[in-house]
Amino acid sequence: MEQAGLRVRQDAAGNVCGRREGRTPGLPALVLGSHLDTVPDAGRYDGPLGVLMAVAVAERLGRRAGAGPLGLPFALEVIGFGDEEGTRFDKALLGSQAVAGTWDDAWWDLRDRDGVTLHQAFRDFGLDPARVGEAARRPEELVGYLEAHIEQGPYLEAADASLGYVTSIAGARRFVLTFLGEARHAGGTPYERRKDALVGAAEAVVAVERVARAAGTIATVGRVEVEPGAVNVVPGRAALTLDVRAATDAERDRTWDEVHAEVRRGARGAGSGSR
Ligand SMILES: [Zn+2]
Repeated sequence: MEQAGLRVRQDAAGNVCGRREGRTPGLPALVLGSHLDTVPDAGRYDGPLGVLMAVAVAERLGRRAGAGPLGLPFALEVIGFGDEEGTRFDKALLGSQAVAGTWDDAWWDLRDRDGVTLHQAFRDFGLDPARVGEAARRPEELVGYLEAHIEQGPYLEAADASLGYVTSIAGARRFVLTFLGEARHAGGTPYERRKDALVGAAEAVVAVERVARAAGTIATVGRVEVEPGAVNVVPGRAALTLDVRAATDAERDRTWDEVHAEVRRGARGAGSGSR
């Protein structure tokens, strides 16, 4: 960012921000950028491409302007958002929510898999949780936001097209569904006595796909945790994550309502031998 002529700072939420003034100092900014984090094993170019393209734009404009101000009627800003995917704390869009001014203090108590709270992680990273509000931007400081993003679906490649534009952005809802059964010794417990939490969860996974496919929406179970997780014990507890998204919030919420009802219906009998 510095090489591209931007004045660089880290905001109070850990986002990396660069700015170059327009025709006159202090003008509202056009923001370009994306997120710096990505998902495990499925994220090549996800996020960083949009940040690098934004830096490249700043570099190109800067080269034209030389040492002087950009001849634009607005300032140019680049933001590399710190947490978009929510992989660590199961809460997405932390960096951009801080910038949008919609931070919720309830998130501080979220814990990662090692038990570290978001509050502690902020401190470990050298940020002051009490100051996160300072990352918020006022609408009058901005003229717009543009994000370039790698396509994470197959359509552009199939069409041999290098660029497309989105017509809607799917707002995801995420859930953790917990199935409670009874942990019992596998050898000594016949089917009619079993309450197998994993059988219930497995049926839910299948129901999720069935409901979402029929509705034309997208729902994904990405993680299943089984307890006690021993080879010879009927699972007493199973928890799965669910990510639901659609072109509109109404379609998405309808899918969740249907999934919820279906899973409840299925879970009552699952693994109990009563079906
Ligand atoms: Zn992304």
